[in-house]
Amino acid sequence: MSLKTLVPQNTREAPFVPMRATFIAPTLLPVCCVCGLIRDDNSFPPSLDCWLTQRTYREAHGIDPTEIALTHTYCPECFRKAQNTAQQYFREIRTSP
Ligand SMILES: [Zn+2]
Repeated sequence: MSLKTLVPQNTREAPFVPMRATFIAPTLLPVCCVCGLIRDDNSFPPSLDCWLTQRTYREAHGIDPTEIALTHTYCPECFRKAQNTAQQYFREIRTSP
């Protein structure tokens, strides 16, 4: 057995390992007040809108979201629905005598 088979040819090339962001548990967890999805501000790779169920949040971060204080917001889909409902309401007010 030669030394070449034991030593990698290019020792400068490190295997690709994706970077992981350090997870810091939030003090307030933003939850959609309609559907209950949790906004994951610590998603990796970072994205503007990452919404998880309680189960996927627990699996992703190892933290039970029911143990964190909640703050309520709208997920994009529920926000669109609420916005449409409000627009419909004001349209009806304007057209009624
Ligand atoms: Zn929602």
